[in-house]
Amino acid sequence: MKSCCGSRRTDADGSDHRCLASGLWIAYPTWTVSVDPLKLFSRKGVFMATAAPGVSLLPEVASFLSSGPLAGVVGGKDVTGSSGETIPTRDPGTGEVLAEVHAFTAADVDTAVANANEAFRKTGWASLAPNDRGVYLHRFADMLEKKKDVLGQLEALDCGKLLPHAMGDVQNLIDTLRYFTDMASTVQRRNALAVAGHEAWTIRNPWGACGFIFPWNFPLLLLGWGTSPALAAGNTVVVKPAEDTPLSTIYVAHLAREAGLPDGVLNVVPGSGATAGAALSANQLIKRMSFTGSPEVGRLVGEACGRNLTPVKLELGGKGAAVVFDDVDVEDAASKLVGAITFHSGQVCCDATRWVVQDAIYDDFVSRCAKKLEAIHVDYQLSDACGMGPVVNAKQRDRVLSYLEKGVAQGAEAVVAGGAAEVPGHAGYFVKPALLAGSFDNVAAREEIFGPVAFVTRFKDEAEGVAIANDTDYGLANSVWSSDLGRAARVAESMVAGNSWINAHNLFPKGVPYGGVNKSGMGGGVNSIETLFDYWRSQSVVRPL
Ligand code: NAD
Repeated sequence: MKSCCGSRRTDADGSDHRCLASGLWIAYPTWTVSVDPLKLFSRKGVFMATAAPGVSLLPEVASFLSSGPLAGVVGGKDVTGSSGETIPTRDPGTGEVLAEVHAFTAADVDTAVANANEAFRKTGWASLAPNDRGVYLHRFADMLEKKKDVLGQLEALDCGKLLPHAMGDVQNLIDTLRYFTDMASTVQRRNALAVAGHEAWTIRNPWGACGFIFPWNFPLLLLGWGTSPALAAGNTVVVKPAEDTPLSTIYVAHLAREAGLPDGVLNVVPGSGATAGAALSANQLIKRMSFTGSPEVGRLVGEACGRNLTPVKLELGGKGAAVVFDDVDVEDAASKLVGAITFHSGQVCCDATRWVVQDAIYDDFVSRCAKKLEAIHVDYQLSDACGMGPVVNAKQRDRVLSYLEKGVAQGAEAVVAGGAAEVPGHAGYFVKPALLAGSFDNVAAREEIFGPVAFVTRFKDEAEGVAIANDTDYGLANSVWSSDLGRAARVAESMVAGNSWINAHNLFPKGVPYGGVNKSGMGGGVNSIETLFDYWRSQSVVRPL
């Protein structure tokens, strides 16, 4: 085919297009972005339908939800599951079904992977210069920006997130996409090698179709962290969202299509983990796999990838510690750690769930934290006064309650008892924040609960503080709190985990790698230049001189 690369054309409707590669035309964006998130839930607004009492749905959210059962997106088209089976996705704050979503069979997933593989080989996506691919991806980011309010509302409804948190996740997705897009355009992909008697270099090329399986706690944020580097590097992707929270991912795939990403570059295969997830991880056309979720399922995905010799990255659970020395501003540390454990109802893999506090401030710290936890207002996630929303489903609520019971049965003191919370008018999955205290030789201090439950214990000196923090099977993220920055750095470096924070918890500036070790993960992290390199395979070229 004769290349049209670089040429422009204007269509009958006046829209401008530019050819990026043979047969690949992209329309130049004409929209402007002006979204005021604060106007989202205006009660006086023009919105069409209502979900929970007092909440008005944006028209696009209402029409998206009522267009169900929602399909997956394969090869640029909406594709329903071949079995006709659907899985309901619920508002965790009401327990009501938001939409039914098609459940893909293993064969449906294989078809999607075949499409992604075909798109990699035939659309020209993989061979575009990174800056030309960047035109598509920035346009995609513009599209996400334009629909920020819709995505934010969908995410808040589906995950039980407070609206500002959901909007923050949308922004994070957009920023991550732009970050990796720009990085891919500027880093060296070819490196000359100094070798006697030869000309030699290495080149980084995309792998092919990459698989992604995500959990329910941060669908949009993790979608951005995972797929942005893969797309920017020229791979195609197949995404399996969690059964509980598939809505925003499907909507994003619609936006990718509208933004002009070639068909098959971004595919979404909704369905159950045991069927759709297992099929994706076992597919031999997947050239690189990424899984975020529990260690138990991570092992299954790792085994399946091992059989195919597919490189796999596992981002798993955590049981992070915060080691708090007696020279801190106690009020500040207490506020920030309570903020971290109640953020998204504690359903955060890198949370500080084990608080290790030095003797001299222990009582003061615990009593301040207890007051703050007791003052948290548990409510429907979109209520104005909400301080902490629901957990994602009944199973998760029951998990939290059972760990509280087991922890106390094993000798923990319930400083703040927690337990189920009633929210009048909302039959969702609410729990109160809790604080247990005592020896960490307790199931609630050793196993990941994934809810708003902290466990506090005391330590005497630095060596003991570090030893307690490191006495865990996990290795995701810890923090150290001290005004002695030399000591803080020393302790941060001696914690056995992928990430250590100083005088803060849950920090993710772009460019800092994030990932776990031991039971918290393997195969590299996310959010930095290393992640982009993960999505290029390196190959050498050599000739004798
Ligand atoms: P999960 O492991 O139950 O499910 C995660 C995903 O795996 C879902 O999409 C699910 O459908 C799929 N799945 C289930 N069975 C499967 C199988 N046999 N084969 C392939 N896929 C399968 O986890 P969850 O309950 O959704 O999420 C909570 C867990 O995720 C916690 O352990 C949390 O710490 C972890 N997490 C880790 C990170 C990180 O960055 N390290 C981030 C978020 C969540």
